[in-house]
Amino acid sequence: MPRSPIPLSRRCGKRPIRVSFEFFPPKNDEGEVALWDAIKRLEPLRPDFVSVTYGAGGTTRERTQATVTRLVRETALKPAAHLTCVGASRDEVDGVVRDYAAAGVRHIVALRGDPPGGVGSAYAPHPEGYQTTAELVRGVRRNGDFEVFVSAYPERHPESPSVDHDLDVLQAKVDAGATRAITQFFFDNEVYFRFVERARARGIDIPIVPGIVPVQNFKQTAGFAARCGASVPNWLAERFEGLENDPATRRLIAAAVAAEQAIDLLDRGVRDFHFYTMNRADLVYATCHLLGMRPEAEATPADAQLRRAANG
Ligand SMILES: Cc1cc2nc3c(=O)[nH]c(=O)nc-3n(C[C@H](O)[C@H](O)[C@H](O)COP(=O)(O)OP(=O)(O)OC[C@H]3O[C@@H](n4cnc5c(N)ncnc54)[C@H](O)[C@@H]3O)c2cc1C
Repeated sequence: MPRSPIPLSRRCGKRPIRVSFEFFPPKNDEGEVALWDAIKRLEPLRPDFVSVTYGAGGTTRERTQATVTRLVRETALKPAAHLTCVGASRDEVDGVVRDYAAAGVRHIVALRGDPPGGVGSAYAPHPEGYQTTAELVRGVRRNGDFEVFVSAYPERHPESPSVDHDLDVLQAKVDAGATRAITQFFFDNEVYFRFVERARARGIDIPIVPGIVPVQNFKQTAGFAARCGASVPNWLAERFEGLENDPATRRLIAAAVAAEQAIDLLDRGVRDFHFYTMNRADLVYATCHLLGMRPEAEATPADAQLRRAANG
């Protein structure tokens, strides 16, 4: 009988994968400590980049900038700063981009952004601002030597009439110079593979990196999913059923769910993974371990300086 090939998740040795981690800027001192604990725990995994979100309506501008510049100063990590078109003129946004360039940041995640009233409220572009994400991508490229990442929505953006429309928007962002797309999170891997297939059929050839959210808290994740148009399959809800008062088992289930999703993606050819960490390291660290990542010895400040120089 012919032997079936051994899946990558079961092969030993180094695997050709890249991971990235997303954090949000902390609101207070306690949050700052939690964020930096998570960063320090995940840094030895040598992610390809780490990204820092920009609050809805541009509300975290200073905190995002402070976190990104601290990452440049104090770590060997490559930070990618999220930036949105919301609530700011082109000049203001360009100023932020130039500040990032001057601080040594080389990666931007360019987004339209959610309206200040939050997801679901009507979106109106700033009269003097970038009108679309594609325009923002061009603006970022004009203002510095950046690699620009953008979003993608395997299950349709809540404001979009169809996945086809989302693909038109993604194409426009690629035409404007985006080099990588990161997806909204999803739980059913088929949804991701179908989306990638449709994108490839239209000639969109940039990496489309799956965004993975480990379920730290099922109720909260389900609420967030409902707002951003990600579906929560019944089988997922069932896995957390009856565990409302059992946090220890919930954590084990969450680890199993994240492992199952990541290993299936790996064995079906995915090599780039973006984790929404929610500023917590444990589940993400365990999932990366299962994917085959191992920590490297902590970089000394001199190593970090050398690596930053090499990264440009
Ligand atoms: C990886 C990732 C990171 C994110 N980070 C942040 C962040 O840091 N800060 C933040 O505030 N939000 C963030 N978001 C959320 C994002 O800002 C919202 O989903 C926002 O509503 C759309 O921004 P976008 O850049 O994805 O939009 P685009 O890619 O420009 O558009 C997304 C889709 O929305 C539809 N659409 C957009 N504009 C219109 C319109 N005027 N009329 C009709 N349909 C329209 C289109 O179908 C389009 O495909 C992130 C999302 C992802 C996937």
